[in-house]
Amino acid sequence: MVYHLPVILSNVRPWGADAVDVVIAGGRIEAVMPAGTTAPGGDRIDGGGLLALPGFVNAHAHVDKSWWGRPWVSYGGEATTQGRIAHERAERDALGIPSVASTTAVLREFLRHGTTATRTHVDVDPGVGLRGIDTVRAAVAALDGAIEVEIVAFPQDGVIRRPGVLELLDEAAAAGVTSIGGIDPASIDRDPVAQLDGLFAIAERRGVGLDIHLHDGGELGAFQYELIIERTRRAGLAGNVTISHGFALGELPPYRQEELLDRLGEAGISWATVAPVRSAPLPWRGMLDRGIAVGLGTDGIRDLWSPYGDGDVLRIALAFARLHGLRTDDELARAVELATGRAAGFVHRDRHELVPGARADLVLLDAENVPDALVRAPVRRLVIAGGRVVAKDGELVDRAVSPDSHRR
Ligand SMILES: [Zn+2]
Repeated sequence: MVYHLPVILSNVRPWGADAVDVVIAGGRIEAVMPAGTTAPGGDRIDGGGLLALPGFVNAHAHVDKSWWGRPWVSYGGEATTQGRIAHERAERDALGIPSVASTTAVLREFLRHGTTATRTHVDVDPGVGLRGIDTVRAAVAALDGAIEVEIVAFPQDGVIRRPGVLELLDEAAAAGVTSIGGIDPASIDRDPVAQLDGLFAIAERRGVGLDIHLHDGGELGAFQYELIIERTRRAGLAGNVTISHGFALGELPPYRQEELLDRLGEAGISWATVAPVRSAPLPWRGMLDRGIAVGLGTDGIRDLWSPYGDGDVLRIALAFARLHGLRTDDELARAVELATGRAAGFVHRDRHELVPGARADLVLLDAENVPDALVRAPVRRLVIAGGRVVAKDGELVDRAVSPDSHRR
C-alpha cells in the first residue's frame, strides 16, 4: 500500500473525550495529541469537534450472497433454514450470484457506514465450488485495500450430507482462507459428530480457525456447544473458534447458561451475533465477564434469505442494545465497543483503537457522546480507512473506492 504524506486530523473527540489531533502516516495512527498542540501547516483535515470512533468491525457478514445494486428481488421459498438454503440454490445462478459487482457494492456500502474491517462467510458447495471466494477477493482488490476482509469458507448447504464439501473446505483452507465454517451439525447434516470431526480435522491440519453457524435451539443447540467445546480444548484451538448466532444460549435456563459460559470461556470460544428481533437475549454480561469475545454482524443483507439489512453495524449495535434492554450510558457505550474495538479479534487485529500504531480507521459523527451516536446512528460525516478518506457526509469519495481507483 502506498499512502501519501502525514495528515493531521484536527479537533476530534475520541469516544466523546476531550478534543485531540490525530497524526496519520503510512496508513496508521502515528500520534494522538491534545487539540491545537500539533505544529501548524502540512496536510490537515478539520475534524470540527466531531465525535471520533475507530472504524466499525462487522464480525459476521455474507458479502457474496447479496443482490445489492440490482433491481428488487421479491422474497420466495419457505421460511425455514432448509427452505432458505433450497431457495438460494434454486435462484442464485439466474441472478448472477455471486458477482464481483454486487459484492463490491456491498463492501462500498459497509465503508459508507464506517465499517473498515469485516469477517465474511462465503458459500462453498459443489455447485459454486470456490468461485465465491475468488469473487470476494476480486471485489476486495477492486477497493484497493480500503476495507480489510477476512474470509470464512462456509458450507451453507451442509457438509456431511453433500459429498465433496469437506474436500472443498480443505482446498479453501490450503488456499489461504482464515477460517472454515460449519452449519447446524445436528439439524442440517443430522450427524453432528461427523461434521464437527471433519471440520476440526481440517482446522488442525491447515492451521485455520473455525466459525460455525448454529441456529438449533434449546438443548439441541447446547449439546452442539458441548461437542464444540470438547473438540476446541482437545485440538488446542482456544481463540480460534467462533459460534455464530448460537440462539440456544439465550433460551436456556440461567443455571445451564452459567455452566456453559464457564466452559465456553475456558475453551476460548468467541460469539458472533446479529441481534435479530424476536431472538432470546444473550447472557452478554456473563459472556464479557468470562472474557468471551462477542462480535456484532450484519449477516447477509438484501439477499435470497431476507430483504432486510442495510450494512450498518452501528444499527446492529442499536438492535443489540434494544434487544438486551440496555439503558445506562455505560451499557450503551459497551454496545458500541462491541461494534468496534472489542471486535478486533474477529478480524485478527491485536488492537483496533484510536491509539498510536493502530491502522488509521476512524469514523466521525456529529453526536454529543457515544450513547447519542448509538441511539440516533447519524450519518457518518467522515470515514478514514487505512489512512485515506473514503467517505464524507455519508457518501463515498469515489476516487478512493471506485473499482478503477488509482493509488495515490
Ligand atoms: Zn450467517
